[in-house]
Amino acid sequence: MNIVLLGPEDTQSEIWSIHSKRQLQHLREHLDITVGQNLKVGIRNGARYVTEIVSIDEQEVCIRPIREEAVPAKLPVHLIVALPRPKVLRRLIMDSVTLGVEKISLIHSYRVDKSYWQTPFLQQIDNYVTLGLEQAGDTIVPEIQMYKRFKPFVEDVLPTLISETSPAYVAHPYADESMPNGIDHACSIVVGPEGGFIPYEVDLLTKNGCQAVSLGNRILRTETSISYILGRLFS
Ligand code: SAM
Repeated sequence: MNIVLLGPEDTQSEIWSIHSKRQLQHLREHLDITVGQNLKVGIRNGARYVTEIVSIDEQEVCIRPIREEAVPAKLPVHLIVALPRPKVLRRLIMDSVTLGVEKISLIHSYRVDKSYWQTPFLQQIDNYVTLGLEQAGDTIVPEIQMYKRFKPFVEDVLPTLISETSPAYVAHPYADESMPNGIDHACSIVVGPEGGFIPYEVDLLTKNGCQAVSLGNRILRTETSISYILGRLFS
């Protein structure tokens, strides 16, 4: 946790309060906080500040903002990813948010187990987003959407996301073309499920404007491929 993220409701007066159990535990166990110490704090969907700790007790840590700081810029990326296993979903959302993805769409595909759409982990997405933002020192919550039907998403939604200045790439290990690197424009990235996209899905994606691109002949895990793609595209 590199900033403490508070809701606008916690920052209404001159003195702000940190009272979430998780955040208090982290401050006590990892930062060994003392009164007078500076603490980086962000307001959800708002500014980020250096604050000073004014009091500490069992229930809350009170802080006072000292000065505003810049919030890290996002990457101009819409990540479209087939819904992974619940355990992977947590890491995937946290890491994508930490890396600065602007928008995330979770989609169905043939090799996504239908039961994943019922997992209670999906209700936890907001918490994973908070953890990702706190790790990065970011405050701006990315837009997250879910599409439980592959074909309508690819045929009706995907084409509206693609333009000359904002292409879409589907990461596919068996594509002939390589994923570009060092780009300076926005884009959408489509990443497959743990079992990969079936040929019909890759065909439908490319017919609807996606460029199929490979990352080489090593097959990466879904979450590893996302970190690699973002590093490569925006190096
Ligand atoms: N057995 C699957 C296959 O052969 O397609 C592996 C799927 S991989 C675990 C999950 C997703 O990560 C893929 O659908 C793709 O989007 C992305 N990916 C992994 N390695 C890749 C590579 N070398 N090139 C392009 N995409 C890759």
